[in-house]
Amino acid sequence: MTISEPASVTRFRDYVKIETVHPTPDYAKCTEFLIAQAEEIGLGHQVVELVKGKPVVILKLEGSDPSLPAILLNSHTDVVPVYREKWDYDPFAATRVEVENGDHRIYGRGTQDMKVTGSLYLEAFRQIKASGKKFLRNVYSTFVPDEEIYSIEGMMPFSKSQEFKDLNIGFGIDEGGPSINENTYYFTSERTTCPVTFTAHGNTGHGSQFIEGTAIEKLLPIINELMLLRETQLSKLKKIGGIMLFNQGQVTSVNLTMLEGGKQPNVVPATFSATFDIRITPLLDLAEFYKYLEDLAEKNECDIEFHYRDEPNKSLKITETNPFMVEIKSACSKHGLNPVEMVMPAATDARFVRQAGIQAVGINPMINHKLLAHDHNEYIIESEYIKSIPFYTDLIERLASVPN
Ligand SMILES: [Zn+2]
Repeated sequence: MTISEPASVTRFRDYVKIETVHPTPDYAKCTEFLIAQAEEIGLGHQVVELVKGKPVVILKLEGSDPSLPAILLNSHTDVVPVYREKWDYDPFAATRVEVENGDHRIYGRGTQDMKVTGSLYLEAFRQIKASGKKFLRNVYSTFVPDEEIYSIEGMMPFSKSQEFKDLNIGFGIDEGGPSINENTYYFTSERTTCPVTFTAHGNTGHGSQFIEGTAIEKLLPIINELMLLRETQLSKLKKIGGIMLFNQGQVTSVNLTMLEGGKQPNVVPATFSATFDIRITPLLDLAEFYKYLEDLAEKNECDIEFHYRDEPNKSLKITETNPFMVEIKSACSKHGLNPVEMVMPAATDARFVRQAGIQAVGINPMINHKLLAHDHNEYIIESEYIKSIPFYTDLIERLASVPN
């Protein structure tokens, strides 16, 4: 039996079909689509282009008291590249496939990460506008570019802009992923990405000699120490509960990703460098950890270069009694979801919102999915998508109705 396709699914598929894929995302077409949606639904809209060709589309659901801080629902419009030959379906055809139990899967790049969330915001707005309800606070939905390439021309500059300040955001909802089990994971903090290179300079000479003070002798203690850190963090992770993705945010991961140096086998190299991908858990003090790495370099007479350095989180920790958190929990319980707090193991744009001093929670209410973000044959389950529309409708009403 083929169930005819709900209009909300068709609109989601239309969004997935727009090839906002790196390295040449079609942001123009995406902006056109989002504005057309906004006009159909009856939302205010604005496009901010701080960097040419990198539009931030802002949709607005007006509240009755615009003097109160607004609610932000953020999602990114870009998606990561595909290996087309590894896909069973065209990654940009948004193919709807019926499965055994009569449910459907929607295949496509960005279905999970994170066009489904953007579509759910739009569908919730549509329901709210159709109902004629008006809430207290303004609600904005931002559709931002370039999250998958570190947001350098996306949320990073936008979160520091006057246009962002003008929105007067009081609380943010941001990226989460579909859950792999029955729980709904939500994120109030995340790890900090820290790509760092240590470079040593030393004496050179003939490969047959015991040259002293070589570059590699200076670099090795750093490699050894960081690999030891990796080992201790991994054993800690195993104690917490295996190496399940959702527990990884509680520890700092370390990977030696690049080793460079040497000209030929019989020449002792004058320089040698080691690059690490470190993901710092928010359970550690960020400034202290940066200092630890700098001291490690200095102690071993090496140069240190941070390829990217995050600002500390300026927002207060979200407590259980936070009125917005209370509403998130109530919405979950009303919709039969079991919310479980986790530290986000990867980086999302929520960090820029938090760096601006605004509390933000990453969430996705869809459960029982295979984790396929950035993977081949990425898909979402249609029934979970449809079930999640009333969740967001309810969540928006609750958050926008929090008094003062
Ligand atoms: Zn994402």
